[in-house]
Amino acid sequence: MPKEKVLVTGGAGFLGSHLCDRFIKEGYHVIAMDNLITGSMENIEHLMGHPDFEYYHCDVSKFVHVPGELKYILHFASPASPIDYLKMPIQTLKVGSLGTHNLLGLAKAKGARMLIASTSEVYGDPLEHPQKETYWGNVNPVGPRGVYDEAKRFQEAMTMAYHTYHGLETRIVRIFNTYGPRMRLDDGRVLPAFVSQALRGEDLTVFGDGTQTRSFCYVDDLVEGIYRLLLSDYAYPVNIGNPSEITIGEFAEEIIRLTGTDQKVIYKPLPQDDPKQRQPDISVAREVLGWEPKYSRAEGLQPTLEYFKKKVLQKPQLNEA
Ligand code: NAD
Ligand code: UDP
Repeated sequence: MPKEKVLVTGGAGFLGSHLCDRFIKEGYHVIAMDNLITGSMENIEHLMGHPDFEYYHCDVSKFVHVPGELKYILHFASPASPIDYLKMPIQTLKVGSLGTHNLLGLAKAKGARMLIASTSEVYGDPLEHPQKETYWGNVNPVGPRGVYDEAKRFQEAMTMAYHTYHGLETRIVRIFNTYGPRMRLDDGRVLPAFVSQALRGEDLTVFGDGTQTRSFCYVDDLVEGIYRLLLSDYAYPVNIGNPSEITIGEFAEEIIRLTGTDQKVIYKPLPQDDPKQRQPDISVAREVLGWEPKYSRAEGLQPTLEYFKKKVLQKPQLNEA
């Protein structure tokens, strides 16, 4: 019997590559689709040559074609870190809108179930705390982050429209800050930034006064939540994240302690519209999926630090952050 096929867009990225691993492990045939604008073949090199893995180089905002049958589509292609989407605002808007439309069309043609990677950014700079799925958000559409936030909000609306109008099987995951091996050292997100600074003997750059909060989820927990959501029958958005909240100032101190560096914290201006607080309410994930995170930050940071240490040793001269 041929294996059921799963298409993962953004499959050479941080989260996409971990999803490819998971679906191979679960016995599927996986197609990773990517144009490598922020991803890397390094993330999937261990899968190349595997009989149940294929890589398609493709910009999903233009056109998508996959021969044969498809069981599931997971749309993870999109620049995801603030410095990436600020550098590529139009591509970000296109992959969230045109790319999503192309993939919904593909899902409809194949009778596939489609899951989209939405984000806690749909809540913008939230006025409700912690954030429940029922909160509509506080987003500045014409601010710098609007290109990402509004693309993702459109993506959710389009996906829901295909669900209600065409009866397509769809799933929406709202992902909160996730970390782990295969994040790019220079992607500008706070964890790679702090860790690479600490490992290279640079001071850690805290933006603003460091009182803004985030809640960090380890990648294996996220992948488990996504897997359960895909297999569930729940079509409404579900928050997946770790509710353990920390200020960015405290997080910098935590990384300094964990890496044993002598470096200190320096303060830089807070980017415009930077959310002041973020923490997922995961009651829906608990009730509908029986899911909650298993890894504490201490547990998740261990393998992540090991990964970054190797990366820094590979590129000792380069100041990428
Ligand atoms: P990433 O940058 O590592 O991965 C994104 C991948 O998409 C890259 O490999 C990139 O090359 C590819 N891509 C971008 N545009 C494309 C296009 N037009 N056609 C084909 N491929 C394209 O980022 P990530 O952290 O793995 O994020 C993956 C998804 O999860 C994104 O949709 C992001 O918005 C979402 N998300 C991530 C987080 C997080 O904390 N990592 C949080 C919320 C949402
Ligand atoms: N941040 C920081 N120093 C850095 C990078 C980020 O203080 O070198 C802050 C950023 O301003 C934000 C938080 O860390 O308040 C998380 O930023 P990130 O880019 O990781 O993700 P966001 O949750 O903002 O999308």
